Amino acid sequence: MTELLLAERVAVVTGAGQGIGREIARTLVTHGARVILADINGDLAGDAATDVGGIGVACDVTSPEQMHDLVTGVTTDLGRLDVFVNNAGITRDASLKKMSVEDFDMVVRVHLRGAWLGVREASAVMREQKSGSIVNISSLSGKSGNPGQTNYSAAKAGIVGLTKAAAKEVAHHNVRVNAIQPGLIRTPMTAAMPPEIFAEREAAVPMKRAGEPAEVAGAVVFLASELSSYVTGTVLEVGGGRFM
Ligand code: NAP
Repeated sequence: MTELLLAERVAVVTGAGQGIGREIARTLVTHGARVILADINGDLAGDAATDVGGIGVACDVTSPEQMHDLVTGVTTDLGRLDVFVNNAGITRDASLKKMSVEDFDMVVRVHLRGAWLGVREASAVMREQKSGSIVNISSLSGKSGNPGQTNYSAAKAGIVGLTKAAAKEVAHHNVRVNAIQPGLIRTPMTAAMPPEIFAEREAAVPMKRAGEPAEVAGAVVFLASELSSYVTGTVLEVGGGRFM
């Protein structure tokens, strides 16, 4: 029998209670990993863990203490940490005229501070272990800029800078850091968009359809596994050809 791509690996996915994070967790489990699903909503994390066959925990990615405890708990209980996926996210869309400072701060806080805390905590363990793969979920919105998303686009572009700087810092420890930029993906986050905006964005995709969460998860498996052993500091677009 062929060995599973992620056999014996331990992986953490943040924001894994639903949407893309849940599918990433499911796909990592399918490929043999033991997966910890972390979400700010502990009940949702528990439900998702039961659904995909992982372990659910409550964790707010903006809290340095909770992120530290998450990584310490995983390494204490499971003995190692091989994959860390910074996926948790929110949107607070509004035009520049209408966006509040609170909505700007909140979005940057969850995405950028959250991912930075995840990179910091995971890389501290992985550098000692001399192996590991960190995957940060950015967005094509961070490449192209979306009107109404000055907060989100800024945070998602920031994740690219974070990814490259961290990749350079830890490459010689055999720790890799990469980012994925999904395009329009069908999840609870995009279900909240006005249908006409969703349809407009979908029509602009060269493949003429929105993506599914599992299609982002496939890219995560590639970056998490030895298939990408010489890949670091890159940004992989999963957007059906949008903004190529
Ligand atoms: P989603 O369905 O809203 O799922 C995101 C999850 O993250 C939710 O369970 C959410 O919990 C959780 N979360 C929010 N704040 C958190 C925090 N502080 N700590 C821990 N967990 C938190 O979104 P999604 O569409 O799957 O998006 C997942 C990632 O992909 C995000 O980073 C998003 O920006 C990115 N992305 C999505 C798309 C797309 O088209 N869907 C495109 C490009 C990039 P609550 O529901 O309780 O807030």
